[in-house]
Amino acid sequence: MPTHQRLGGTIVTTPTPRLAVRHLSKSFGSIRVLDGVSLDAEKGQVISIIGSSGSGKSTLLRCLNLLEVPDAGEVALDGQPVRFQTRRGRLHMSREIQALRASLPMVFQSFNLWRHMTVLDNVAAAPIHVLGRPRAEAREHAAALLTRVGLADRAGHYPHQLSGGQQQRAAIARALAMEPKVLLFDEPTSALDPELVGEVLKVIEALAEAGNTMILVTHEMGFARNVSNHVVLLDHGAVAEAGPPEQVFEAPTSERAAQFLASVM
Ligand code: ADP
Ligand code: MG
Repeated sequence: MPTHQRLGGTIVTTPTPRLAVRHLSKSFGSIRVLDGVSLDAEKGQVISIIGSSGSGKSTLLRCLNLLEVPDAGEVALDGQPVRFQTRRGRLHMSREIQALRASLPMVFQSFNLWRHMTVLDNVAAAPIHVLGRPRAEAREHAAALLTRVGLADRAGHYPHQLSGGQQQRAAIARALAMEPKVLLFDEPTSALDPELVGEVLKVIEALAEAGNTMILVTHEMGFARNVSNHVVLLDHGAVAEAGPPEQVFEAPTSERAAQFLASVM
C-alpha cells in the first residue's frame, strides 16, 4: 500500500517500495551478524552493499529470500510481508517460499551452474519446473536471454566448457529467466580472473540501464559509484552509512565510513 504523508497541508504519496526491509536481525550462535538492518529498494533502483569481510553482507542478501532465516525483522515485497514458518528451527518449504526465491533470485560468486546440464537447460530448468512454463516456451525464452548476455553461441555447451566470465553471464541469464522482481548479486565478479570482470560488469550495467531492480554486494567501488543509485555500508551487521553514491563516497558522515573508504579507494 502506498503511504500518505501530510507535509505542510499537501498530501504526498510515496510509492510502495519494491522491497522493504525492516529491522532485520540474525545471529549465529552468540554472534549477532545482522543487527537491525533496514533498507528500501524502489522499483528500478540499483543498490550496492559494501563493507569489510564478515560485516554481514552475504547474510543480509540471504535473509531477503530466506536462504537464511532471520531471527527478527520483516521483509515486504511490493507491500506484501514475506511470511514463513519454521519447524525445529528450520525453514518449512512451501510454494510461497519457492515463489519468493523465484522473485528474488541470487547470483553467487561461484556461479553455481548445474554441471550436468547444458547452458540452455540451466537457464530453462527453473521456469519449467518451478514456474510451470511450457518446455518449448521456456527454452525459447532461455535462448533469447543467452543472446542478451552474449552467449547465443554457447547454448549447447556445458558449464566446464565455458570461461568463468561466460559461466557467470549464464548464471545471470538463469536468474533473469525467473522474471525476477529484484535481482540479488553476491560479489558476482570476485571469483573471476581480472580480465573477465569487465564483461560481467557490463552485463550487470546493461540490466541496470534496462530498469531492473538490483541489490549487489560488491568490492568493485568504481562500479558501486557509477552504476548504483544507492549505496549501503554495512559494519558489524548494522548500516553505518547509506545514501546516494556521491554522498557515501565523497562526503561520508560517519567515521566508520570514512575509514572503510580510505582503506579501499
Ligand atoms: P560478508 O559477506 O560481509 O563477508 P557474512 O554475512 O558472510 O559476511 O558473514 C558475517 C559473519 O557471520 C561472519 O563472522 C561469518 O563467519 C558468520 N557466518 C556467516 N554464515 C554463517 C553460518 N552459516 N554459520 C555460522 N556463522 C556464519
Ligand atoms: Mg560475503
